[in-house]
Amino acid sequence: MHRPPRSLRFYLGSAAVYAFLSYLAVQLVYDWELDRAGLHATGFHPHTVFRNTYAVHLVSFAVWLAIALVTGALVHRVQSTLTRALDEAHQRANELTLISEVGAAISGPLPPTRLAADFLALVRQRVAPSATVAIAAYDDASETFAALAAEGPRASDPPAVAGAVASFPAEVRCRLLGPFHTLVVQDSAAQPALWATVVETWPQLAATRCFCLMPLVSRDRPMGLLALYDDAPHRIDDDQLRLLTSLGQHLAGALDNAGLVTSAEARADREARMNEELQRLNKAKTDFVSIVAHEFRTPLTGIRGFSEIIRDYELTLDEAREYAADIHSDAQRLTRMINSQLDLDRLQSGQIELQKEPMQLNDVVAWVVELTRETAPDHQLRLDLDLALPSIPGDRDRMIQVVTNLLNNAIKYSPAGTEVLLETERDGDCVRLVVRDHGVGIEPPALDRIFEPYTRIETGPGGHVTGTGLGLPIVRQIVTLHGGRVWAESVPGEGSTFHVTLPVGSDETKE
Ligand code: ADP
Repeated sequence: MHRPPRSLRFYLGSAAVYAFLSYLAVQLVYDWELDRAGLHATGFHPHTVFRNTYAVHLVSFAVWLAIALVTGALVHRVQSTLTRALDEAHQRANELTLISEVGAAISGPLPPTRLAADFLALVRQRVAPSATVAIAAYDDASETFAALAAEGPRASDPPAVAGAVASFPAEVRCRLLGPFHTLVVQDSAAQPALWATVVETWPQLAATRCFCLMPLVSRDRPMGLLALYDDAPHRIDDDQLRLLTSLGQHLAGALDNAGLVTSAEARADREARMNEELQRLNKAKTDFVSIVAHEFRTPLTGIRGFSEIIRDYELTLDEAREYAADIHSDAQRLTRMINSQLDLDRLQSGQIELQKEPMQLNDVVAWVVELTRETAPDHQLRLDLDLALPSIPGDRDRMIQVVTNLLNNAIKYSPAGTEVLLETERDGDCVRLVVRDHGVGIEPPALDRIFEPYTRIETGPGGHVTGTGLGLPIVRQIVTLHGGRVWAESVPGEGSTFHVTLPVGSDETKE
């Protein structure tokens, strides 16, 4: 039979002794007083106290005893209720302390991994030492849970309860993303069907008996999950579950805030970059207007001047032809500038599609050099071609434009009599073209900028050099469309080297 608790036995025993002693004292006094008042028929004899009034005394004693026992039981009840209330108050106070500690620990703008680690460091003390607690964050875009932190004996396993949501068991998936209900399996052996699907997804949980999976939710959106697993069954009680739920809400809020801070920072970053880009474009536009005004004015002044001479003066046919030739060359220059601008616009907006076919870079380089020799007789153009160069998939006309622009620049920005070298070579999966001159060179800060439209440094070896600032941007656009790269190296005052690499592609054919 169930034995009453010790405290109850103590209270009942004390009540019984108290009732007996009180009864005895009261009866003795009562009998003695009766006797003194002469109300006892036989006189007062202590040995007759019990015998003479037996029935009355018995009832009186029973009442005394009943009152004392009921009082004892009541006192015991009150005492145990108070003790329980005190225990609960202690527990609540401890929980509140933990909640406020967790709140303080994860309130700052910390990265999610740090939030999870700080959270676990505090929560760890409140769960069984044999339990492992893990936290994963949800990524909306990829629909995956990525492990953030884990604490406990199985924390070093590859993180369980992470991965793509699509691969999660349906029972788990719908709780984490749907109605957001915690899944509690007090004993996996009692739910073999469910547990088989869980272990199929996370084999690390094969030995787990007790399992709890709690969705972390903020503003009705899944932020992550908290998993608690233990190799022994029934290791989570209602109090722990309640505590974990309110702590989990704090963590979900903190993860949400961390995400908001990160996206606000990213937005601010993006806006700053866009601002910079807008400022750069604005400057480019202003530069372009002044370049156009400046560069167009020169040929236009020539055209106007020469045409006025032809109109206003009596000229011989040869003189008229000479002026007409000047007008023609200025008009050609204007056309070139307008064409370059249109070309770059079309390349950048994707209006021009490359006509790719197997192409030998050596042939293109040799052809451009042959043509240029006639227009640049004062420079020594030297070729150093790798004859074993494979052919590449390329748009021949566009590659001619690339080589022409680089070669023309090398000539424009280097003094007469100097050498311009054009080299080709194999470079891993690419072929490489190098154009090297011994000209004015480029200051290091401008090395990247010169590939941006309208960036110009107008000083050449003999003073002012005309141009549009569009040659190199066109080169870069064409090379990029071929999947290649172009960059420049230079020592100011000694010369510049331009490198172009172009991928050989899969249909490599050696010549
Ligand atoms: P442009 O030559 O019409 O000015 P580019 O886009 O071809 O325009 O070149 C941009 C700028 O890059 C030039 O103004 C020049 O300052 C610099 N540059 C290009 N090639 C060379 C080179 N080989 N040597 C020195 N500077 C160069």
